[in-house]
This record gives sequence, C-alpha cells and structure tokens, in this order.
Amino acid sequence: MERREVIDLFGETVVIEVSEAKGVRKPTRPNGYAAPPGTGPAGETCKSCEHAVRVSGNTAGTYRKCALMRSVWTGGPGSDILFRSPACRHWEKER
Ligand code: SF4
Repeated sequence: MERREVIDLFGETVVIEVSEAKGVRKPTRPNGYAAPPGTGPAGETCKSCEHAVRVSGNTAGTYRKCALMRSVWTGGPGSDILFRSPACRHWEKER
C-alpha cells in the first residue's frame, strides 16, 4: 500500500492508501496446449494437427483450441492456442 496526501473539497489534507496492484492485471498464461509447444515433430504446427479445432463463440468470433484439452476449456484466452505454434508431443497428422 502506498500512502498519499491529498487535499479534499474543504481544503483539508487527508491521507489515502492506494493499492499498487490496482489496475495491474497478470498476463494470461497460455494453458491450452496439450504439452509444451516445440516438443513435437520438427516443422509441424498445431494447424496441421488432428486435434486442433476452431470453436465458434456464443457472441462473436472463432477461437482456436486443442481438442485434447477440452475438459479445461474456458471462455477466455487462457485455453486458446495459436495455430502457428510449433507442434507438441501429442501432435497427430491431420486426417
Ligand atoms: S500439436 Fe496438436 S495436440 Fe499439441 S497442442 Fe497443438 S493441437 Fe493440441
């Protein structure tokens, strides 16, 4: 907590406590990959994988997900994947 002195409407000096963390949001960690990207076959990406899917949202947009991670999908970007990501060790050739 940071303490600041400010002047109120009546000219009185008051001390307020300001949270340093307020307004700062932790960056979203990408948790949508079945295994760390880059642990799969060289030259392959999520885009060429059997498990990569496009999911239509309720409101707008299409989101890219890994079907192997379906049980932990959220409505947010934390469970999204990038199709250009290097393949992980669970990569399977698209049929
Ligand atoms: S390579 Fe396939 S199994 Fe691995 S995270 Fe990407 S879509 Fe999922």
